[in-house]
Amino acid sequence: MTTRTDALAAAAAYFDDGAFFADLQRRIAFRTESDTGAATPALEAYLRDELIPPLEALGFACEVIANPVVGGGPFLIARRIEGATLPTLLSYGHGDVVSGQDPHWAEGLGPWLLTVRGDRWYGRGTADNKGQHSINLGGLAAALRARGGRLGFNLTWLIEMGEEAASPGLQAVCEQQRDKLRADLLIACDGPRVNAGRPTLFLGSRGAVNFSLRLRARPRGYHSGNWGGVLANPATVLSHAVASLADPKGRILVDALRPPPIPQAVRSALADIAIGGDAEDPALDAGWGEPGLSPAERLMAWNTIEVLALGAGSAERPVNAIPGAAVAHCQLRFVVGTPWQDLAQIVRAHLDARGFGQVEVEVTLAGAATRLDVENPWVEWAQRSIAGSCGQRADLLPNLAGSLPNDVFAGLLGLPTLWVPHSYPACAQHAPNEHLLAPLAREGLQIMAGLYWDLGEPGRAPWQAGALAPASLASH
Ligand SMILES: [Zn+2]
Repeated sequence: MTTRTDALAAAAAYFDDGAFFADLQRRIAFRTESDTGAATPALEAYLRDELIPPLEALGFACEVIANPVVGGGPFLIARRIEGATLPTLLSYGHGDVVSGQDPHWAEGLGPWLLTVRGDRWYGRGTADNKGQHSINLGGLAAALRARGGRLGFNLTWLIEMGEEAASPGLQAVCEQQRDKLRADLLIACDGPRVNAGRPTLFLGSRGAVNFSLRLRARPRGYHSGNWGGVLANPATVLSHAVASLADPKGRILVDALRPPPIPQAVRSALADIAIGGDAEDPALDAGWGEPGLSPAERLMAWNTIEVLALGAGSAERPVNAIPGAAVAHCQLRFVVGTPWQDLAQIVRAHLDARGFGQVEVEVTLAGAATRLDVENPWVEWAQRSIAGSCGQRADLLPNLAGSLPNDVFAGLLGLPTLWVPHSYPACAQHAPNEHLLAPLAREGLQIMAGLYWDLGEPGRAPWQAGALAPASLASH
């Protein structure tokens, strides 16, 4: 009779015998960039050549679904049904990546060839997300084999190929395919751990709204000597408009965009979370952001307004002219309870009240925040499972500081959502030299095998605990 230990050993063996490396090497070679504006055939090829064969071998029925949004990458829905009365797990990953940025990698490294340097495995998608869903799939295969080809629950995989292009069509496909995606729990892998040395469990994500402030004063610039003093300078005016959103220390000055008070359970979860400190992390700026909060609270339990880019005149080649226009591309990162859908009106009213009526506000991108209740029984269940696989409990984040399309799972599909990341903060995600840490991959395979094993233990996982209704989710 096989045991949980056998499942974990099989997961480690998949890593140790080089098979995991070989699988990931093939997957990294697919140029599945989705943020270049053109849909490449590599997106569908990745699903058909790399994910469907191993999923079919594990007993999944696979279906590729075209994106209802023109130019968007396809989706894969893979279902493995063991019994109509069994509970169902939904898992999610994305096979697309951000641009390779080929010329900018360090000597001897490149985005499309998995390359080992010490503990680091370099390549585009190693961390985000090919490495992570490969770990998830490897852990699944190990648990399934150890249990003699049974899981004890049904499992559905949803893979998208457009996450790096802001997930076009994801919401629509989840609405269309609601029946096929019906489940009781989501477990997925993406994003970084808080610290490389300890696992992380996060329960949702902050949301983000990108918005631009633009002041179009005149169709062209005018000589600053001939006209300075009688023409309003759009760069000066726009700078003051931007400054009215956040003070010199980054504290948000727009009351309606500040979050509600931090719940006590969230505070407690974040109490022992340390931010930064790894060799390649930047030093934190003391005194930046909302006063009175710890770095973890400012990052995970609060909102920030960031200026992403500023433009007026030519910054590289200034000339003696009053620019005709100025623009600031800004972003609100926010937690649940923020009226983000009203951002355009809120900023509009804020600017109008301060005399900036001529500054235009345009929202360019928006995604919701989610946060599973920290006291949901799945959280403690996952903590025990993870500790049983790697010897330590996970850092628990009520939500990730970054953003994920978790709203479709927590909101639309009404699922409790558990995220188990296998990357780490200095992984260079979205940048040249992206990499996966080999020891984290090996440990991640065992963590995932343990979670799959424990989900199938009769009566042990809180599938029918009665506390899993969508109402138990705090989601906006
Ligand atoms: Zn990404």
